[in-house]
Amino acid sequence: MVVIAEDFTVKGGSIGHPNAAKRARLVRLALEQKLPLVLMLDGAGERATNQAERYPNTPNDLQLVADLQGQVPVVTLVLGTSAGHGAITGVFADLIIMLEGAAMFTAGPPLVQAALGVETTPEELGGAGMDSMSYCVVIEEISRVCAGLGLCVTVHNSVGVYPIVVFGTEEQKKKWVPPLARGEKIGAFCITEPNAGSDASGVEATAIRDGDYYLVNANKVFATNGGVADTCLIFSRTDPSAGRKGVSVIVAERGTPGMVIGDLEDLCGVRCNPVSSIRLYDCRVPEGNLLGKEGMGLRIGLVALDAGRIGIAAQAVGIAQAALEEAVKYAKERHQFGVPIARHQAIGMMLADMATLVEAARVMVYRAAIQRDQGKPFTQASAMAKLYASEISSKVTDMAVQVHGGYGYSKSYPVERYYRDARVTRIYEGTSEIHKMVIARGVLEG
Ligand SMILES: Cc1cc2nc3c(=O)[nH]c(=O)nc-3n(C[C@H](O)[C@H](O)[C@H](O)COP(=O)(O)OP(=O)(O)OC[C@H]3O[C@@H](n4cnc5c(N)ncnc54)[C@H](O)[C@@H]3O)c2cc1C
Repeated sequence: MVVIAEDFTVKGGSIGHPNAAKRARLVRLALEQKLPLVLMLDGAGERATNQAERYPNTPNDLQLVADLQGQVPVVTLVLGTSAGHGAITGVFADLIIMLEGAAMFTAGPPLVQAALGVETTPEELGGAGMDSMSYCVVIEEISRVCAGLGLCVTVHNSVGVYPIVVFGTEEQKKKWVPPLARGEKIGAFCITEPNAGSDASGVEATAIRDGDYYLVNANKVFATNGGVADTCLIFSRTDPSAGRKGVSVIVAERGTPGMVIGDLEDLCGVRCNPVSSIRLYDCRVPEGNLLGKEGMGLRIGLVALDAGRIGIAAQAVGIAQAALEEAVKYAKERHQFGVPIARHQAIGMMLADMATLVEAARVMVYRAAIQRDQGKPFTQASAMAKLYASEISSKVTDMAVQVHGGYGYSKSYPVERYYRDARVTRIYEGTSEIHKMVIARGVLEG
């Protein structure tokens, strides 16, 4: 094994640095000896881009790692808080091990760029053209490592891009979807307001026609990806007197005068996601930015959330899977009363329950995804999958903390993060209570 255990992602200005030659030597050694390469990355978002821009004729670190692909096994270990470059390097690696990074993609969304454009975004619009089943696997795997990034990818795809693909005009699709699918731009979905949460029909934002424009005033809160979003679907009233039928979706683009990105929410979990408020003050948005027709807002929201739920359910499974893996590992390592704690039956039973819950949730997620891929109704299946997966994710992460004892309650082990990350899956894209209402309706209507 060859380890490059230094600041691999050197700053743009240090390409001529002796470390660069050392890196090249170690990479050559790994290639010649066919040895696995472990890169310990202290990455910063802009560095790869800086290097590429400033020194277009010099192979940069990113190129170096891309070239290794398929030649020797590459493991990247991403350290520190700004794992932007580390993340993109990981895309080319066989395995990426990432420690929690608070600024992981606010610094730059490279891993996101690689993963975006999945879920049913057609290839002709720049998407990967994948089906829901593959999408679930992607979201589960990303969330197993970093739930905040999983949240970014699922919200972007399911509710940020998908509604444009389904309800957009040809012109709107051509304009917005390709850069979103390539990950050059990030999408956000903004229904929630201080007085409108579970009851989306209560939105107070307004979008009033003014010549060729809509004059938009809105106070949106808890917008996932809000801090970095380029296109924001703003649910607002085009006809304040029309009740539920007066809600429409206006696509507001970052930088439009009057649009202000608020402070990031100081969240309990999924902390690397820049969830923020977004305010629009007399913001003039061209009439061509109306998605679908006036009054279609709630329908667009329902279609998006139907799909989105499957992604959140997959995220919940990913977090629970990570907690299970950590618990198994710890139970084998930790000795009490002269034996590994795994040998105590109470711990074994807990691990058995955890594994069973995770597997059951995964099957439900896959079932919902398959029904969707087969063009069958999937509202009931996706609501059940979201409800069950999010509930068991809290349960399984709680058990993982228990298996770790006091250490599970400290930041020395990742399970406390999984515990925090899992909790929110019971809240966003519809709380558990709202999902039970949806399921009950389905059950009663047959
Ligand atoms: C990290 C994070 C990211 C988010 N991302 C987004 C996003 O990208 N876009 C967006 O628009 N929103 C987003 N949200 C908001 C989220 O969707 C809402 O928090 C959620 O829908 C609940 O709304 P609320 O917080 O206003 O709670 P409320 O609706 O006020 O609910 C409070 C409690 O009352 C219960 N309740 C409400 N109505 C009923 C009822 N009829 N029957 C029984 N119980 C009921 C709820 O289940 C809950 O337990 C995000 C939230 C978080 C925490």
